[in-house]
Amino acid sequence: MLIRDLSRVTQRHGYLIRVGRDGVAPAPDGGIIQPIADWPSGAVALGEWQGAPIAVFGENGSADWPAARQWLHTLPRDQFPLLSSALQVLKWLRDHRFCGRCGKRMKRLEHEFAMHCTGCQHRSYPRISPCIITLITRGREMLLARSPRFGPGMYSTLAGFIEAGESAEEAVRREVHEEVGVEVGRVSYFQSQSWPFPHSFMLGYYAEYAGGDITIDGVEIEDAQWFTPEDLPGLPPKFSISHALIDNFLRSVATGR
Ligand SMILES: [Zn+2]
Repeated sequence: MLIRDLSRVTQRHGYLIRVGRDGVAPAPDGGIIQPIADWPSGAVALGEWQGAPIAVFGENGSADWPAARQWLHTLPRDQFPLLSSALQVLKWLRDHRFCGRCGKRMKRLEHEFAMHCTGCQHRSYPRISPCIITLITRGREMLLARSPRFGPGMYSTLAGFIEAGESAEEAVRREVHEEVGVEVGRVSYFQSQSWPFPHSFMLGYYAEYAGGDITIDGVEIEDAQWFTPEDLPGLPPKFSISHALIDNFLRSVATGR
């Protein structure tokens, strides 16, 4: 487990995750955690991992490393929070070098993830964007949809950003209506997950179908269908909350709960 306490990082060696523009460097064991004698200058501490400090280092020239999303298929499960933290912290540092309020260069604070502007005292923290992700169910059927961005044959749950001023439950109903045109009744919370593409925080919900026919726009969603447990399409990566929503529903169908 990643211990997110930067005050425990008192030395600049331990473990390192190397991240390029697109990819993440593989470690000898097939994961992303490299034991390293000395962190390069510019490495950013993330906390403590298995008793040793761990940092992320952003570099260029890494074209042949597996893309960050590709790691979702092969990474040991316990390393996913590390990947998520490393990608988001790096992106935040790259995007907040200058103050958004007065334009001066920002300074990184030592013991927390904060950038401080000495000009106007503005502070910025890693940006986290809340999203809802929802599995619509009708009896033992699930409504799954595919975006044109998906690999061939893959379908997934519906997702979207929560808008300013909106509750998560309101966002579920709005997104469902916008994306597939159906109405939902009871909405119930499942679990959450950090999703670093680029900085989403997914709140997972089940939504019970209440009425209406599937209507899609053909642009963001190119197809949406009802699926039974016996006739499933390709599903999202195993670490994703989307996969967990589907898996958990399949278990509840199988056990008759
Ligand atoms: Zn400022």
